[in-house]
Amino acid sequence: MSTLWSDHIAGLEPYVPGEQVQMPDLLKLNTNENPYGPSPRAVEAMQAALGDDLRLYPDFQGLGLRQAAAKCHRVTPDQVFLGNGSDEILAHVFNAFFLRGGRQLWLPDVTYSFYRTWCRFHEVPHRLIPLADDLSLKASDYTGETDQEPSGIIFANPNAPTGCALPLDDIATIARARPDSVVVVDEAYVDFGAESATSLVDQFQNLLVVHTLSKSRSLAGLRVGYAIGPVELIQALTRVKDSFNSYPLDRVALAGAQAALEDTAWFDRTCRAVIEARTQLTSGLQQLGFEVLPSQTNFVFTRHPREEAAIIARGLRDRAILVRHFQAPRIGQYLRITVGTPEQCTRLCDTLKDILSA
Ligand code: PMP
Repeated sequence: MSTLWSDHIAGLEPYVPGEQVQMPDLLKLNTNENPYGPSPRAVEAMQAALGDDLRLYPDFQGLGLRQAAAKCHRVTPDQVFLGNGSDEILAHVFNAFFLRGGRQLWLPDVTYSFYRTWCRFHEVPHRLIPLADDLSLKASDYTGETDQEPSGIIFANPNAPTGCALPLDDIATIARARPDSVVVVDEAYVDFGAESATSLVDQFQNLLVVHTLSKSRSLAGLRVGYAIGPVELIQALTRVKDSFNSYPLDRVALAGAQAALEDTAWFDRTCRAVIEARTQLTSGLQQLGFEVLPSQTNFVFTRHPREEAAIIARGLRDRAILVRHFQAPRIGQYLRITVGTPEQCTRLCDTLKDILSA
């Protein structure tokens, strides 16, 4: 801490990402990266973008990429907003929609922990709504009578770190029940088996859906995300962006992301492979006595009835396998494990077997 800091800096609670370490023979299953590489067409497009044109600023409107995203989701390009990873978009969302005269933002008690960091950063008043005992999100907890309408509602769907998904009807029910609240659905993991709410944005003026290219498009290193929503919400985000950084995406990222969205064959094949490996991982864990929540993501959320999650995580780390353990209320007994290739899932289960029998 320093006396040179602005007043609010000491009170921030920065998000802590999964660790990135160097060790021999490391198996990294702690940050939900895709085990398969990005589309070769995306890599080619990025290589082609590495040239003399880099002296020029990128297209600040990212039109080519917005058109590609619009085509994927059957919307128009003016319903698409781009950001430097979906984290940047979500940070803009808090600024653009959740500071409305002291009204509260509603969010689940167990969800992507960055939301609470942004609440703190932007001083957003908020209410945590507990998930059900089985860690599922109940739409009815968001639709009832209230003294004060929330400024907004935000959750990940499928939720993180639980991996459980809410059906589209429930999202429509929430958006319909709260027309004066911006309902933000973070679909970072939706491509691994859940239904996207982008098909609903033309029906609801208050619904915004956020996507990332970090997971199903295997481009976490590129930092690209996008939001899909009604034009008026996109305009608010654009006003925030252009008051912050007009060029969040560079030329290489715009080219690579566009080619990745256009390569639907690669996307379909790699998503399918992850989903198949998830089935293998789930049954491997169950055979070892783990309870595994139903996942529609590229990770599983699991606990062992007898062994402490922290001890298992440490045992895995000692054997060069990283998984994520959150020291947080309600979920301290769980591990979040990224789905790897079939070989990686086998190595994980074999190692867990050793640890449990030691
Ligand atoms: N939302 C959720 C639920 C996530 O788990 C993540 C990844 N940490 C993100 C958003 C952010 O992804 P990115 O910034 O890489 O697009």
